[in-house]
Amino acid sequence: MREYTKLYIGGEWVEPIASHGSIEVVDSSTEEVVAKVAQGGADDVDRAVAAARGAFDSWSQTPVDVRAKYLRDIGAGLTARFEEIASTISAEVGSPKTFAQMVQAGLAVGDWENYAKIIEEYDWETQLGNSLVVKEPIGVVGAITPWNYPLYLIVCKVGPALAAGCTIVLKPASYTPLNALILTEVIDSVGLPAGVFNLVVGPGGEVGEAIAKHPDVDMVSLTGSGPVGAQVSKDAADTVKRVGLELGGKSANVVLDDADPATVALGAVFSCFINSGQTCSALTRLLVPRSREQEYIDAIVEEASKVRLVDPHADEPDIFHALGPMVSRSQQETVRNYIQKGIDEGAQLLIGGPEAPEEFDKGFYVKPTIFAGVTTDMTIAQEEIFGPVLSILSYEDEDDAVRIANDTVFGLAGGVQSGDVERAKRVARRMRTGQVDINGAPFNTNAPFGGYKQSGNTRERGVFGLEEFLETKSIQLPA
Ligand code: NAD
Repeated sequence: MREYTKLYIGGEWVEPIASHGSIEVVDSSTEEVVAKVAQGGADDVDRAVAAARGAFDSWSQTPVDVRAKYLRDIGAGLTARFEEIASTISAEVGSPKTFAQMVQAGLAVGDWENYAKIIEEYDWETQLGNSLVVKEPIGVVGAITPWNYPLYLIVCKVGPALAAGCTIVLKPASYTPLNALILTEVIDSVGLPAGVFNLVVGPGGEVGEAIAKHPDVDMVSLTGSGPVGAQVSKDAADTVKRVGLELGGKSANVVLDDADPATVALGAVFSCFINSGQTCSALTRLLVPRSREQEYIDAIVEEASKVRLVDPHADEPDIFHALGPMVSRSQQETVRNYIQKGIDEGAQLLIGGPEAPEEFDKGFYVKPTIFAGVTTDMTIAQEEIFGPVLSILSYEDEDDAVRIANDTVFGLAGGVQSGDVERAKRVARRMRTGQVDINGAPFNTNAPFGGYKQSGNTRERGVFGLEEFLETKSIQLPA
């Protein structure tokens, strides 16, 4: 078992000021404790913010090419530890090995080169009449992250914030601190100036809250659940800091009546069950036309019959059909309760159910579950479940489909399936969400990602992600 006793503050590994106990990191498939990690407290946040503040002047003035080189060095350092990152995330999160390699580690490692290029090409200054409009880093950034794509979602903040010239205090999710420790070791090894990046592991209610309230933090950037997003906004309000929120979703996949059922089925199952449904942008509500409802249901049930629960540490090359466990016992319980609620509220259970799966006697597994006959008033049509549960709803016509798709407090993602891309685009434009995939179009790491409504208020990735960490200054020039 690995043991980490230190935080990373001011360019050094340091003991927490006072003991706040340690986190036990549990392998989601074996239920064994694989590591212990020391927690910090609010006093450690003070220290980390002071270090970040002290480093800001110099880092923010560091030439772009020097910053870009550090980013590339970090990317190279992570690449050298690619296999270790993937296997760590397979243990912490339960993501099957191939998925952990291709998606979890792949995205986290690859993005650094992107940010290096973006800042090399970015227009930091523009002339507007007699004004020079200058883009500058916002200052000290508090980054608070979740556990589902733990390293990638850290990189979505730390990458562009460093690129912008900001200094950082990172608090990773308590279920998954190990990948953040690997990143920190890499950052330490490339010789990033002391204080530019700081890591304080610890509970959200103490370390996260201290970051959100801290008067010397200029921006808090959170990826997490809606209630925590609301709390962070309140905590940040007294110091009027910028708040960037990437929150939950209940995204609709709208199947138009000209879409081929077999093609729809593969995408519908994968886009909902991806990472065992522990994906903010998972398309968890499938909207099918009433006139062809049974055809789509039959195709989906056939496709879902290929889905298997697997040991995340085993070689399972089929990322479309291999699902690992939930991250934790509590997440497993939450998802099973939602499945029971779906049954109790009258949805038709097509596959799965709330019982423990027979395949494994250990691990936080949940049966992949599909409901038909779901109506918008049901809990499973409205709340984010964050597990492998697909709700199928039927609609009358295109207007009805759009109405149902938008009938949620969330607005993160969506999908449209159609034989006619122009028709699909028309529907996509009417969906009140930050992104829409047409016919399972591929993920684009440079496209903006973020939510409408209660799914958040920011955009991450690419140049949009960089700009979240920038301030804009006008310098008026004399005639
Ligand atoms: P969570 O909200 O419970 O925790 C997120 C982070 O906030 C953790 O680091 C946690 O320790 C911290 N935190 C908790 N209470 C806090 C407080 N009072 N003040 C400050 N920080 C606090 O979310 P989670 O369970 O880790 O992650 C799942 C959620 O994240 C889901 O709702 C999912 O949709 C969302 N998510 C959104 C995106 C996106 O890009 N929009 C991506 C991934 C996950």
